This record gives sequence, structure tokens and C-alpha cells, in this order.
Amino acid sequence: MSGIDTLPPLRAVIANHGLSARKSLGQNFLLDLNLTAKIARQAGDVAECDVLEIGPGPGGLTRGLLAEGARHVLAIEKDARCLPALAEIAAAYPGRLTVVEGDALEIDPLAHLRAPIRVAANLPYNVGTELLVRWLTPPTWPPFWQSLTLMFQREVADRIVAQPGSKAYGRLAVLSQWRSDARIAMSLPPEAFTPPPKVSSAVVHLTALPAPRFPADADVLSRVVAKAFNQRRKMLRAALKGVAPDIEDKLIAAGLKPTDRAEQIPLEGFCALARLVADA
Ligand code: SAM
Repeated sequence: MSGIDTLPPLRAVIANHGLSARKSLGQNFLLDLNLTAKIARQAGDVAECDVLEIGPGPGGLTRGLLAEGARHVLAIEKDARCLPALAEIAAAYPGRLTVVEGDALEIDPLAHLRAPIRVAANLPYNVGTELLVRWLTPPTWPPFWQSLTLMFQREVADRIVAQPGSKAYGRLAVLSQWRSDARIAMSLPPEAFTPPPKVSSAVVHLTALPAPRFPADADVLSRVVAKAFNQRRKMLRAALKGVAPDIEDKLIAAGLKPTDRAEQIPLEGFCALARLVADA
């Protein structure tokens, strides 16, 4: 199933429900249904899937996902003003849209979802980054999701897909690429949104790997990488001081040079170091 639905245009929805954008909720809406359909298609084949959508707002992406044939969409929205607009969408797609009002950082969505599950969202970037890190570091792997299709500020998207040796390379790149295939699927200029944000945006698509690329404990890896990049201009032996006894020996045992900087270390090197730190 594909195509734009017969619900009112999103500008009319915004006007009918008085959905003036609130900065405090990071509300930059997508009102072009051709564009939201295109973003929904980046989520892959949703027909056999439940989709978790965070921050549906007036429902542009929600409508795209449903029109693309998503089996069931669970949409979590913090702004109660959006609920009547979302209820109209639920009525147009009987039994296929569940809306939960609340903060996505506080709600466990799994009670409402059935595998296989994909995630799609256009969220304020700080919430998006926090959720991304949580989704990448669950206690067990594989995670509940098959793929994540997430809108970020372009600068954050670049950090997710960055390679060693670049300024953008850091904790987000390591955690993302350790357990998923991550790529930038679409770039969007500020004018794509109402109101336009100050910067460009990009949709990142992450596909969960069946197993992490290299063995490591998620918490230890996360801690080591955070510390290494916290002082990214320092040599590793200084930046990682206190992470484990004899850190210089561990760096050498992991095949790394204690004089290297975090930016130069490939994913495999961080995982080798995290294993040695965990053993200590
Ligand atoms: N998805 C809609 C679109 O593309 O037009 C809205 C995008 S707008 C950038 C972000 C949405 O996330 C808003 O509707 C906002 O109310 C909602 N939101 C912000 N923080 C949230 C949170 N912690 N939990 C759930 N929704 C949140």
C-alpha cells in the first residue's frame, strides 16, 4: 500500500487544532505530505512491522507510515494539543494507530508493540540523541528494533556516520557503528520545516546487526569511549588515566599506541581496549 491519504492537508490540521509550534518542545513540523511519505519509505518495508514513532506532532510522518502500509503504529507524543489531530488519523486507519500521551524518555513502549518492530521519528535533537544511545545500549543484543529511521540536525547525523580521523568521530559513531549499519538516508534544508530551524537536518537510517561487530561489554565500551573523547586532544594514556590500573599496558596489549588520540582509534581498537578494561 502506498500513497497520500484523504485526510485534510497538514496546514489545515495545524489551523483547525491551534497547533502553534512551541520552541520548548522542539516543534519544527513537516507539513509536506510528499516529504513525509519519502521519509516513511526510508524506514524500509513497514508492511509486516509495528512501527514506534516518537513525537508525531500533527501527524505528517505518522500518515506517511500508515499510507506505506505499516501494520501498526505506536506514536508517543508529549504535547496533549496534538491528540485530537492524531485521533483523526486513528479514525482513518481503524485499529492501526495507537497514540500514547507522554514523555518518550519515561515510557516503555514494548507493552504496546509486537515484533518485528521498526522505529521512525522526527524529534528534538537532544531527546533523539538520548534515545539513540539508549536504543544502542540495551542490556541484551539484538535489540527490540530492526531499524531506526531518525531525523537529526545535520551535524549530529554526521557524528553518527563519522569515520576515524575526522572531527565528527566520537562516542556516537563508535556506539552506532559497533552494533548497526548506519547511513545518512536524506538531507533536508531548514525550509522543509515549519517554522524553519537554524540549521539543516538529515535522516539517519540504522539497521541493527544480529551481533555487535566486535565483542565488548556495552557499559565498559561506552565508558571508555566517553572518557577517551572527553579530552579528545589529549593522548590516550592521559585521557584514559584512571579508567583501569596500568592503562598504558592495556593500550599496548590492545594494539594501540598510548600516544595516539581518540580520534585515530578505529572501532575494533576501542572494543579490544574495552575487553581488557572489563577483564581488569
Ligand atoms: N513528527 C512531527 C513532524 O515531523 O512534523 C513533529 C516533529 S517536531 C520536530 C517534534 C515532536 O516531538 C513534537 O510534536 C513534540 O511535541 C514532540 N516531543 C518533544 N519532546 C518529546 C518527548 N520527550 N517525548 C515525546 N514527544 C516529544
